[in-house]
Amino acid sequence: MISAALTQRIRAAVEAGFDEQLRATAELVAAPSLRADEEAAQDLIEARLSAFGLEVDRWKIASDELEAHPGYGPSTVDYTRMSNVVATYRPERETGRSLILNGHIDIVPEGPEAQWSRSPWDAEVRDGWMYGRGAGDMKAGLIANLFAFDALRRAGLAPQGRIHLQSVVEEECTGNGSLAALLRGYTADAVIIPEPEEDALVRANVGVLWCTIRVSGEPTHPREMANGFNAIDAAYQVIGALRELESEWNAEKDRHRYFEDLDHPINFNIGGIRGGDWPSSVPAWCELRLRVALYPGMTAAEALAAVEDCVRAAAAGSGSAGESARHSFDVEVIPDGFFSEGYVLEPGSDAEALLEVTHRAAFGHELTSFTTPGYLDGRVFVNYGDMPCLVYGPVSENIHGFDERVSIESIRRCTESIALFIAEWCGVEEIEESSAASAASAA
Ligand code: ZN
Repeated sequence: MISAALTQRIRAAVEAGFDEQLRATAELVAAPSLRADEEAAQDLIEARLSAFGLEVDRWKIASDELEAHPGYGPSTVDYTRMSNVVATYRPERETGRSLILNGHIDIVPEGPEAQWSRSPWDAEVRDGWMYGRGAGDMKAGLIANLFAFDALRRAGLAPQGRIHLQSVVEEECTGNGSLAALLRGYTADAVIIPEPEEDALVRANVGVLWCTIRVSGEPTHPREMANGFNAIDAAYQVIGALRELESEWNAEKDRHRYFEDLDHPINFNIGGIRGGDWPSSVPAWCELRLRVALYPGMTAAEALAAVEDCVRAAAAGSGSAGESARHSFDVEVIPDGFFSEGYVLEPGSDAEALLEVTHRAAFGHELTSFTTPGYLDGRVFVNYGDMPCLVYGPVSENIHGFDERVSIESIRRCTESIALFIAEWCGVEEIEESSAASAASAA
C-alpha cells in the first residue's frame, strides 16, 4: 500500500490542480452535448487529453459489429456522425495492473428552460455547488477522471499500468457508446465510472428497455364518434395494463438480491405521448414512449416479450385492463433505445477492496454501497467484458431535473480517491527530473 507521505503528495497535487479542474468542468457544462450533438464537447475532451501527451483514438461508433451485439440498443440517430474519444497511457515497462476510467459526454434534455432558475449552461459555482445540465451527470466525473490521472504526473509519479481514459456517447439512451469502446478492444483489469452516486459505490442496478407502443384507431368525423375508435382513449387502457405489469414485477423484489430493500425498484416511465392529427377527427393513432426497468438476470428480450404480451392482451380486451374495452384494437411495440440487462458488482473483488481504502483516505469515513434503479454503462464492462466496474462518484441533486447541481467538495474528494486508486492499482514510479520537466513542458 502506498505510504502516508505519497498519499499526501497525491492529495496535494489534486488540490493544486483543482481550480483548473473546475474551469475545465465549467467549460464542458457550457458546451451542451445533447444526443447526436456531442462533437464540440468531444473536441474539448480530445484537446485536454492531447495536452496530457497521450495518444488519442477518436472514431465514429457506427459498425455492423455493434448492431449485431446482443447488448446493442436499436438507435434512431446517425452513428456515422457521433464519435467516442479514448486516450491511452502506456508505461515504458508495463508491470502494473491496467485500468479504464470511463465517463459519458452525452446529457439529457434540459426541458423547458423557463422552469430553470438560471441558464442550464452557465455552470455557475455558488455556495459550494456547480450548476448546469450535465454538471453532475456526469461532466464533473468525466473531468475528475482526467485530473485524477494528471495529478500523478504533477506529483512527479508515473503509473506502471496501462490506462484508458474514455469519453463515450449514448449512455443516456442506449449504452451503445461504451459498448462500441469494448468492441474496439479496450479492456482492463478494472473500470471506474464516476457517475453521480452520492460518494458511494453501486452494488447492483437494473437493466433498461426503451420502446415505442403504437396504438391504432379508426378515424371518423366526431359527429359519428361512436362509429370510430379513439386511439388516444385506447392508449389509456395500454397504460393501465403496463401499470399492472409494473406492480407484478415490483411484488417480486424479494426474489432479487440487493433489490429487496428498495420501495419500488421497477419503474415504467411513460416518457412521451403523441397522437391524433387535430381536434375534429377521432384519432387514428397514438404513440407512447416507454422506459421499462428489469432486474439483473432477466434479458432485454424477455422484458420486451413480457411488454408485448401485456399490451396485446389489453388490445385484445382479454387483460383485466381491457375488459371494459368496446373493441379490440391493433398495437405494435417497437424497441428504439436501451436494450440492456442489469448487473451486480459481486463483492470481494480486489478493485472494491482498494476503493474502500482510497475512499477512507480521501473522505475519512467508510465506503458504502447501494442498489440503484437506473441504467449504468457498468453493465457493458461487467456483463460483456467480465471486468469489475466501480460506479462511484460525487454528490449531486436534480439530475435529469431543473437546476441540476454537483457538490464541489465531493468532486474534490472523489478526485483524490480516484487518483490514489490509480497510484495503488497500477503502481507508480518516480519520474526522473529531466523527463518530468519535458512532460511538463509538453503539457
Ligand atoms: Zn450518467
